[in-house]
Amino acid sequence: MDQYRVFGNPIKHSRSPYIHQAFAEETQQQLTYQSQLVALDAFAATIKDFAQAGGKGGNVTVPFKEQALALCDQVSKRASLAGAVNTLSFRDGQILGDNTDGIGLVKDLLANKVTLTNRRILLIGAGGAAKGVVLPLLEQNPAQLVIANRTLSKAQQICQLVSDNRLSCCTFEHCNNYEFDVIINATSASLDGHLPAIPEQVIARAEVCYDMVYAKQLTPFLHWAKESGANKVIDGLGMLVAQAAESFNIWRGVMPSTDEVLQRLRADLT
Ligand code: NDP
Repeated sequence: MDQYRVFGNPIKHSRSPYIHQAFAEETQQQLTYQSQLVALDAFAATIKDFAQAGGKGGNVTVPFKEQALALCDQVSKRASLAGAVNTLSFRDGQILGDNTDGIGLVKDLLANKVTLTNRRILLIGAGGAAKGVVLPLLEQNPAQLVIANRTLSKAQQICQLVSDNRLSCCTFEHCNNYEFDVIINATSASLDGHLPAIPEQVIARAEVCYDMVYAKQLTPFLHWAKESGANKVIDGLGMLVAQAAESFNIWRGVMPSTDEVLQRLRADLT
């Protein structure tokens, strides 16, 4: 049976084995998918060993996505811009890398009936996750995409790399100079119970607020957005499932459906 794995540290929390086994059952693909805890100094050796032992591919999670990029013989444009790889494929002795986080986000937004074309989008954060979604968001032809980050220089670096006249960046405070239809929180602030210091009026004027973090209850960001008057709030669980479906499609050439897995994961959240 073809073997796939997700590599990370920590890895116990990963829902990827559950998601991919469900995809395999649904699409009747013969494969195994397991999680593997990787010592912090052993990523490259672990991946090479797995490939040599006949592994077909894998997902990569925190903190190895940048190392995965460096290990690849070929990477997609979106992974190259993200500076991070979350999907590895082993073919003909080569390691191929892609990043499906961005397309996962876009698909989840579209599945939630959020229009991106001609809309003004604010992306909060400039870490790996934010970098991964910039190109897929621009491919949806928004009117404007503004990146705001606590450390402005990181947002500026992304704008310089991409060089697209719809793309700009600003400080949290200066977000108030704009109107946004869709706001995407790509910071990890919600994980620590914090909020990015965006002026409340900016949030209140938005139609849709999205948090890449997910939880059983509304995340702090989505709770704030709802209280402030944002029309629609969405968490990142759908993005998680959608990015997994994209990886599955890269490996198996078949796109699984995501609705049922998403519902089951939602019900299991603690
Ligand atoms: P990084 O560590 O690379 O980046 C973290 C980002 O969050 C930086 O922009 C950082 O700002 C910002 N940040 C952290 N704390 C605060 C705060 N208190 N106030 C304002 N900004 C803050 O993480 P990633 O980009 O890899 O991941 C970001 C989040 O997205 C994570 O929570 C992750 O779980 C989630 N994610 C979800 C996915 C999904 O499928 N749903 C997929 C990928 C990621 P600064 O630069 O100033 O430090």
